[in-house]
This record gives sequence, C-alpha cells and structure tokens, in this order.
Amino acid sequence: MESLNANLLHPRQRVGESMPRWREADGGEALRLAAQDPAAVLATVQDADLRGLGGSGFPVWRKWQAVASEAPRPDKYLVCNGNEDEPGTFKDRLLLEETPHQVIEGALLAALATGINRIVFYINPDLPRSLAALKAALAQWQGSDMLEQASAVLGRPLTMTLVPGSGHYIGGEETAAMEWIEGKFPFPRGKPPYPAQFGIHGCPTLINNIETLANIPAIVRHGADWFRNLGIGHATGSKLYSLSGDVLHPGVYELPMGTTLHDLIFTHGGGLLSGKPLKAVFTGGPSNTLLTPADLDVGLDFESLRERGANLGTGAMIVVSEGTGIVKRVAEYMRFFAHSSCGQCVSCKTGTATLSRLIERIDTGRGTADDLVTIESLCRMLPGSGRCHLVNGVAQLVDSSFRHFRHEYQQALK
Ligand code: SF4
Repeated sequence: MESLNANLLHPRQRVGESMPRWREADGGEALRLAAQDPAAVLATVQDADLRGLGGSGFPVWRKWQAVASEAPRPDKYLVCNGNEDEPGTFKDRLLLEETPHQVIEGALLAALATGINRIVFYINPDLPRSLAALKAALAQWQGSDMLEQASAVLGRPLTMTLVPGSGHYIGGEETAAMEWIEGKFPFPRGKPPYPAQFGIHGCPTLINNIETLANIPAIVRHGADWFRNLGIGHATGSKLYSLSGDVLHPGVYELPMGTTLHDLIFTHGGGLLSGKPLKAVFTGGPSNTLLTPADLDVGLDFESLRERGANLGTGAMIVVSEGTGIVKRVAEYMRFFAHSSCGQCVSCKTGTATLSRLIERIDTGRGTADDLVTIESLCRMLPGSGRCHLVNGVAQLVDSSFRHFRHEYQQALK
C-alpha cells in the first residue's frame, strides 16, 4: 500500500482506531472550524470540485445541496457507503482500517453542512477488520466532547450507527442500501423519487462513499485551492487507485487525480509480472470499459477517461498481461454479475444469465457464430433497461471486450 503526495493516507493519519493519536494529527480541527460556519463547508466542497469517488463522479456538492434544501421528516439520514464489493476494488476497507476517525469526521462535517441528524455507516459484512476498527473508533466518539459540540451546532442530537451490509454486491447500490437499512432485502428501488427527497423511512437521505467522506476534513482544514492543486491539469484532488492483476506490486496507491495509466502501472506498480507485455486493463473495475496499451497515456480522472469512452469508476485497475485469454476473464466476471443480478428486472435477470451462458460456451469451445450475433444484440438492448446500473455495466464490459478482442472470440469458436 503506497501513498505518494498523500492526503488521505498520510502517515500521520494512519493511526488506526486510536483517537488520541488522531487528535495529535489535527484530528477534529475541521469540525472545530465548521462549527463556526457550517454552511461554508458546502461552499468549500463545491469550490474544491470534489466528486463522488464510489464510481459516480457526480459533484458532491450537488447531492449535498439537494438534501440541505429538504426539511427533516422528522429526520435526515447520511449513509456512509462502505459496501465495497466490486472485484478489484479494495480502497475503502483500507481507509476504515487505518484511518477510521478521518472517515467519521468527514461524515459529521457532511451532516453539519446539510442538517443531517442520523448517520449510518453501512459496511461490507465480509470485512471484519474494517468493521472492528470502525466499531472501536465509533465507541470513542460516543459521549465525546466533539460529538456533543456537533449536536449543539446542529441543534439536535446527532446519532451514529454501524450497520453491516447484506453481503450482496447489489447492496452497494444506493437505494438497495436504504432498503437493507430499513430491514428489507436490498432490492434497488426505481427512481424517482430520489433519496434526497424520499430516502430511509421517507426521510431526505444523502449517500456518500467512504473515500469521498474521508476527503472532507482536509478540504475544510486546508481549503478548496489546496485540494484542487493536488490533481493534475483539470483534475482535482488525489485518488486511491486499487491496482491488481498481473502487476509486480499490487496495492492501493494514493496519487494525484489524473496520474497516467502508464505511471500507475510502471512507475508505481513496478510493471508487469515476469516482464510480460501489457494486453489490457479492466478500468474502473470489471463493470466498465477495457483499455489497451494504446491508452497508456490517458490520465486516470473522470473527464480524460470519458473522452476515451471509459469510466474511472471506483479507481480499480485490473491489469492483464499477454498470454491471458480475454474471453476466459470476461466469462469469469459474467458469472459474477449474473449471480449478482437481483432478478427484479426481466431484462437484467435473463440478459446477464444469457450473456454468461453464451460466453462460457464460447470459452469452452462450444460456441457458434450465431452466439456472437446474439451477444452483440444483447449489448445493444440491455443498457438502460434495468432499475440500476448493473445491467449497463455488464453490457459495457462485454461490448468493450468485443470491440478490442473480437478476434479472440472468433478464435475460440474454432
Ligand atoms: Fe436488480 Fe438487475 Fe434490475 Fe439492478 S438492473 S434492479 S440488479 S434486476
């Protein structure tokens, strides 16, 4: 795990659950500043151009504004989304384990800026170390002077609870998270209404990713310009990239937003295992778009990747070396996504299962040319047909593997 140009993973911040050590590292300072003018936090986050780092890239301040403008009914909720279950993504668990107080302070700042009184930490149940660290950290906040002061600024008691998630990948979708917190199976809801208007128990609800929230204390302490200048070019802030696959030094790297794919893999990741040539990168996790060696110069930020028809997603980069079959890898991911479909939408339930079955068939030498035609038409039909993004991501994965590696599918037919 490396942190260069460290913001979130600065060694001073990585004190685990110890509140005294965290306070020695300016912990709590941002809350003290925010208490003087809570509304200024939203304006600072807007100026900083902080984006949602759980995959959306949506401007954080817009979500905050939507919740801030709603009246409590009778409460307002913040869900700190740590469901992190996408293959190849393992950054939020590191923040929760190594710097849980930074995440908690970020959540309290978001609550003060938007008038939220109930904070729910919604965490992947299969991450026992993250859960234990957060639980121990939260226990130190209960009854602390900082929580009392935050409640006084808000004008009502601020509560913080820890809710382990369901263990389903789809439980990370924001409306599915709300269903689970309400005690139901995590089925994604149709939108509208949006969570800001009708969220948990009908109350206005803000949902932010763990990495997004962890950025808030430093933005408040150092200002918007400081944060913007951490990025490269038009990109702002730093980013935790989860680097994995056929790379010499896999891990979580905190680097300036906009670091090139080449620098991440070769300068920081040490290049490919056994010095093999690069074949492809599953960018932003497998439910996104494949990049190839022709894209090594691309900056890993929201806009630069969008210009290449790709997404930053969670910042996961899964490296594939020459010699690895793309069809086999896509077949593995498709099994995961078909298994993860919650089955509410007929197109998703049957579409993901059909794609998985066809690609498996091709990979095992039993495919036909007709299968390729069916796969292509499914990739055209599926996007936008489901309640949530799962079905779109699946189509993107298969479609981009077709665009770049169609020859491998055709060879597999032979
Ligand atoms: Fe469930 Fe798929 Fe519909 Fe999403 S698109 S709600 S995962 S069936």
